[in-house]
Amino acid sequence: MECFRRNLTLNCGCTVCGDAQKNMDHIFRRCPVALSIWFPLIREDKVEEFFSLDFKQWLFVNLSNVEGFGRDRVHWDVLFGFLLWNLWRKRNEWVFSDQDWSGEPVLQRVLRMQHEAIAARPTLASDRSLRSTNVGVPAVG
Ligand SMILES: [Zn+2]
Repeated sequence: MECFRRNLTLNCGCTVCGDAQKNMDHIFRRCPVALSIWFPLIREDKVEEFFSLDFKQWLFVNLSNVEGFGRDRVHWDVLFGFLLWNLWRKRNEWVFSDQDWSGEPVLQRVLRMQHEAIAARPTLASDRSLRSTNVGVPAVG
């Protein structure tokens, strides 16, 4: 109980579900709040692998794989990144601002963000200001 030893808090467990674990793996993958979001998204044939990967491997695999574990097999990496960020954001709102888990559901928000990000890609690629920033490799010599 590192947080207790450092006198950071008297309660070292998860502030959302009360579980004794409060590490990144619990917060982002195993907390019931996270589970309720992951389960509808993960392909059934990938559930066991999704939850058995080492945490760092889990992050790497999901952030670097477009198809990943998702049922839709499209832009999983984008969805995964937005989901982690929104889980963290919502947890902080709940812990520090006394906001409950109501409001726009995390999954709904994440799906909206994913859609917006994907829709923005062609716009970004065709943006003249971005194309005019031509950073080439300098000539040798
Ligand atoms: Zn929890």
